[in-house]
Amino acid sequence: MWGATFEEPHTTPLRNFILWLAGKKSVTDAIARSGMKYGFARRFVPGETLADAIAAAAELGRAGRRVTLNQLGENVASAEESRQSADSYLEMLRQLNGTGLDATISVKLTHLGLDLDPKLCRSLTLEIAARAAELGSTLEIDMESSAYTDRTIDIYGNAQRQYRNVGLAIQASLRRSESDLERLAALNPKIRLVKGAYREPAALAFQKKSEVDANYRTLLDILLRPRTTGQFVAAIATHDPALIDFAERKIKEYAVPQSQYEFQMLFGIRRDLQDQVHAAGHPLRVYIPFGSSWCPYFMRRLAERPANIWFLVRSLTAERKPSTGTRAK
Ligand SMILES: Cc1cc2nc3c(=O)[nH]c(=O)nc-3n(C[C@H](O)[C@H](O)[C@H](O)COP(=O)(O)OP(=O)(O)OC[C@H]3O[C@@H](n4cnc5c(N)ncnc54)[C@H](O)[C@@H]3O)c2cc1C
Repeated sequence: MWGATFEEPHTTPLRNFILWLAGKKSVTDAIARSGMKYGFARRFVPGETLADAIAAAAELGRAGRRVTLNQLGENVASAEESRQSADSYLEMLRQLNGTGLDATISVKLTHLGLDLDPKLCRSLTLEIAARAAELGSTLEIDMESSAYTDRTIDIYGNAQRQYRNVGLAIQASLRRSESDLERLAALNPKIRLVKGAYREPAALAFQKKSEVDANYRTLLDILLRPRTTGQFVAAIATHDPALIDFAERKIKEYAVPQSQYEFQMLFGIRRDLQDQVHAAGHPLRVYIPFGSSWCPYFMRRLAERPANIWFLVRSLTAERKPSTGTRAK
């Protein structure tokens, strides 16, 4: 029956189409030209500058939230661009220091040149981790598509062994994630558990939402359960109310102290749920992306919830329609 999907796929044709479009420069350029102008991007991205992000972070901080800042950008084209991205993260750490915010930074390794020069990427990651450690902050490493998983884990392990202040995102959609967690446990890592935002082949990734959710539960249990060797800090990064309920039950069952877990959600998404999690007394960190390269991030948010496309179309048409009310002169 139409509309009664008992086995909703994690991967749908529409989601795949949007993710495919996200890779087309002409499409993303066209969206980028109007996104901030017409305001629809601001729902997910507070602005293009670090000042915009810090203003959003300060507001969230006043409401008792922790934050993590991400300078949007992926797959840089040269060593100079890799260096510039690293500098922008160092500047972010500098400006966050002294604000009194509980703030970390989140980085994609392709933004530090993982594709071009893994050696350079490794040394830039170490430099950022070292600076974050000096300032008592944490570097969180985002996980990108499966083409980068091994290299990301490798660079992550190297930085965490040296500085002990580095976190890593692990995707429940990938079949390999359980063994990755077991291998990483000895590093006492902070693991951000996400469902996974990328289109992946069936050989590597679960395709049905129910399978991804079941694996999320398995992995979350591994992160929260007391262990004899290695202890995780769990960052429970989801807006899925059923998984949040599951996490709350496990936190209670295993009596997990607040120093060992936090919830994480994306800026502008399910603010109602963010309020509920905070009101229930759990630590909650909001991921704040900013920057001029916001389009691929924005497209992934559309792919997660195609209903957002109507929100985009409405914003565009509402802005472009001549106003019927009294115009200010
Ligand atoms: C803090 C944080 C960091 C992340 N880092 C990474 C990373 O490093 N690598 C990676 O691959 N992925 C990352 N993600 C994205 C993640 O993989 C998912 O794609 C995303 O979180 C959607 O999955 P969900 O768990 O919220 O559950 P879903 O089942 O997708 O959504 C649950 C509910 O949340 C709401 N919702 C979800 N998405 C949206 C949206 N875009 N707009 C409006 N409502 C929405 C809806 O009400 C939906 O029913 C991150 C997510 C978070 C929260």
